[in-house]
Amino acid sequence: MGTAIMITSGKGGTGKTTLTAGIASCLAAIGRRVLCIDMDIGLRNLDISLGMTDRIVMDFSDVVEGRCTLERGAADHPVIKGLSLLTAPMRLPTERISEEQMRAFIRQAKQAYDYILIDSPAGIGSGFKLALSGADRVIVVTTNDPSSLRDAQRTVGEISRTHNHIHLIMNRIQPKLLKQLHTTIDDAMDTAGLPLLGVVPEDGQVPLALGEGKPLVLASRKGAAVACLNIARRINGERIPLMKIH
Ligand code: ADP
Ligand code: MG
Repeated sequence: MGTAIMITSGKGGTGKTTLTAGIASCLAAIGRRVLCIDMDIGLRNLDISLGMTDRIVMDFSDVVEGRCTLERGAADHPVIKGLSLLTAPMRLPTERISEEQMRAFIRQAKQAYDYILIDSPAGIGSGFKLALSGADRVIVVTTNDPSSLRDAQRTVGEISRTHNHIHLIMNRIQPKLLKQLHTTIDDAMDTAGLPLLGVVPEDGQVPLALGEGKPLVLASRKGAAVACLNIARRINGERIPLMKIH
């Protein structure tokens, strides 16, 4: 039986999609079967981060509403074995899918995959709530900037009504902050009130890989790519020390 993990943040542009793709690729690379679900309806872009734009035919609503099976609907990654994607529809009134339908769909997916990574939309609206209803665990992504931290805090308040397995990832940490990093991380953990799952550096390879339509972990073996691998291994139960950012 697999585990469903939602990646969320409150604020847009913190790196949810980038990290969903990066962590999912790394979980697959260490031998787990992984399904990514893009739940950012209308603004989907997880297919781009995974380098799978030309593979998309069906979306998650086709599976949830019974128009195709999960097996047919999920697109396999062309290079990374064990990695599949179900994209988001371009248009879908979220109230058309009930939380019960969502949970049944995720239960079914957990039979076939070890990890289901759900990329959530920004905010705490209906799309966020639908994504949350299927998740066992939640990862909240924040950058170091105060408005991102405050949004993360609000989001955690919302999530903790129903979920108690919540972790934090700090993304886009500048190497020059290294000296203050411990205070920064402590502050972030205090502000968000969460245990830390990982720290990801600001890395020029992220936009470069995106521009080339390549998954980050196939484009780079340092910086953010290593941070994603460490996070994947922690999710998978290994004890990996926090990475040093040089
Ligand atoms: P979200 O899904 O939260 O809206 P994205 O994953 O789409 O955020 O990232 C927003 C932008 O930030 C993208 O242009 C992406 O390339 C960039 N980005 C995300 N993480 C990093 C990083 N660690 N280093 C450099 N750029 C990043
Ligand atoms: Mg996104």
